[in-house]
Amino acid sequence: MPLPHGRSSPDAQDLGFDPAELRARYRAERDRRIRPEGNGQYERAAGRFGYYDEDPYTEAPSDRDPLCDRVEVVVVGGGFGGLLAGARLRRAGVESIRVIEKGGDFGGTWYWNRYPGIHCDIESYIYLPLLEEVGYVPKWKYAPGEEIRQHARAVGRVFGLYRDAVFQTQVTELRWNEAESEWLVSTDRGDRIRARYVVTASGTLSEAKLPGIPGIETFAGHTFHTSRWDYGYTGGSAEGNLHGLAGKRVALIGTGATAIQCVPHLAAGAAELYVFQRTPSSVDVRANRPTDPAWAASLTPGWQRRRRDNFLALVTGDRTEQDLVDDGWTSSARLHQKLIPSDSHREGHPELSAEENERAYELADFQKMNEIRARVDAVVTDPRTAEKLKPWYRYMCKRPTFSDSYLQTFNLPHVTLVDTADQHGVERITESGVVVGGTTYEVDCIIFGTGFRVGLSGITSGRLPVYGRDGVALTDTWREGPRTLHGFYSHGFPNLFQLGPLQNASSVNYVHILDEQATHVAEVVAAARARRARYVDPSAGAQAAWVATIREKAADLYAFQAECTPGYYNNEGRPRKRSESYGDGPVAFHALLRDWRANGGLSEVLVDAEGDDRP
Ligand code: NDP
Repeated sequence: MPLPHGRSSPDAQDLGFDPAELRARYRAERDRRIRPEGNGQYERAAGRFGYYDEDPYTEAPSDRDPLCDRVEVVVVGGGFGGLLAGARLRRAGVESIRVIEKGGDFGGTWYWNRYPGIHCDIESYIYLPLLEEVGYVPKWKYAPGEEIRQHARAVGRVFGLYRDAVFQTQVTELRWNEAESEWLVSTDRGDRIRARYVVTASGTLSEAKLPGIPGIETFAGHTFHTSRWDYGYTGGSAEGNLHGLAGKRVALIGTGATAIQCVPHLAAGAAELYVFQRTPSSVDVRANRPTDPAWAASLTPGWQRRRRDNFLALVTGDRTEQDLVDDGWTSSARLHQKLIPSDSHREGHPELSAEENERAYELADFQKMNEIRARVDAVVTDPRTAEKLKPWYRYMCKRPTFSDSYLQTFNLPHVTLVDTADQHGVERITESGVVVGGTTYEVDCIIFGTGFRVGLSGITSGRLPVYGRDGVALTDTWREGPRTLHGFYSHGFPNLFQLGPLQNASSVNYVHILDEQATHVAEVVAAARARRARYVDPSAGAQAAWVATIREKAADLYAFQAECTPGYYNNEGRPRKRSESYGDGPVAFHALLRDWRANGGLSEVLVDAEGDDRP
């Protein structure tokens, strides 16, 4: 049912629902969840809560001699960002690459997150990088975490990145040495590694967070965070069979994308499961299926790029007819397109006004969320529980989730949903249980599915200090806000490249974004090597122009986010006024980078041996 062009407000009868009523409901649900402390309500999994950060997968490192050598490139982080940087640099001819990684192996997110049921909710054929290069086709449309982790290791092997990598090691400082034109990279293992180039790829959701619930430290039972799953206690594996929970009463706090996947397995293993919910997730159909061997055999070279590009174009608003992935992400994008009159995009016809466009988006959103809420009613037999599980906010206010077993779990007699919205979350933890609304739920184990601190990278948060030319700290030069060219580099910090969403462009298939970034960085490094440049450093003028472009094009998400229930997408209900993302979106951004590389852009960043006289 397209939005009638030019009509100001289709009425409730046309639509089958009343937009004004839904808007009011959404606002009320937001208001009852806002907490004045914002992010201050959370604790870091560090210091007195350092236990929650310990690595359960690899034995504590034994002593090794500090490294005091020289490599061409240090890559900080061995998740997909670091692996892609390593792989693309290797392809560009760089031999000496050292990845430095906190975990005991490659994998990043997929190293740390091994909770039961873990899968990636982005289609595997577009999410797993370098499939054609590695010669692999995933076994399922949505891959389990272990398959993804093994693929990360395969990338490490195929591109020879294990050879010089160091694991269980954290970079503690980056310091530029002007005389030698190189970085001095210090680590928590006493290493002092000299590197011509440094690429940081330390992730954005990598530090587990805990809710600052009063009494959290008094709990005498067992406890851990979902990103450090304790299979020693629960038994079983990421495939389930948590036999260690037999006879146990378990509390899971949080109902985000992680909880959606592990709840069915917890319910299968535990004697009693209490799921403490503050805001329900939207849970759409999963429909996972094994890879069709005939389809896999039919793939022709370049297939992964075509599929990824098609998905990115669709989910970022392109009117592409073809939908190769055809899943929950693309169907919600297509729903919006259906509501826009098709003639409005033909030549000679007026475009929709911004207001009409926003209204079409909102209607598509209401329809999508109505479907999601109707599914809860269709699946959950107890109407009161069903009511609590219904999300009342716009689709992209929170990370959408997909499952064909999560909602069903609440039909089991030993599973209890405890809604904590009126209490702003769990009220208190005691020695023996979890308190909400005056009731204590006695449990043997509390699992925190409470997510991650939304850092920008370590170097932007200051956790990893960076000192550039003349010993200047990066965080000092960014006091008035970040300043980069294309998000990758900052003037005065030569040969330092950052991967991440800052002043760059992002999307839900984040590994695709990382691949585009890694490819760009590798091409810039290859050009610097080919021209024997002294170093790579954006001119102050080019950087200022990019910051101005970011400001000018910044998508204004404030109004949308201000109406959302609080969460990490909207800075816990305090949306940022200024977006640090390229407003024309990733498809345009990637084209801009290609054009920049092909048409003389490199002269803005390459400094030759004679020195720097650029504006
Ligand atoms: P989230 O941050 O999404 O969820 C944290 C949960 O904890 C929320 O439900 C939150 O409620 C709840 N919570 C926080 N504090 C309290 C409290 N005091 N009392 C009760 N509940 C509380 O973390 P996840 O680990 O689920 O997911 C993090 C991100 O990781 C996802 O958004 C996604 O980007 C990624 N992910 C991706 C997957 C994939 O398949 N690609 C799978 C899993 C995760 P509230 O919403 O009210 O704040």
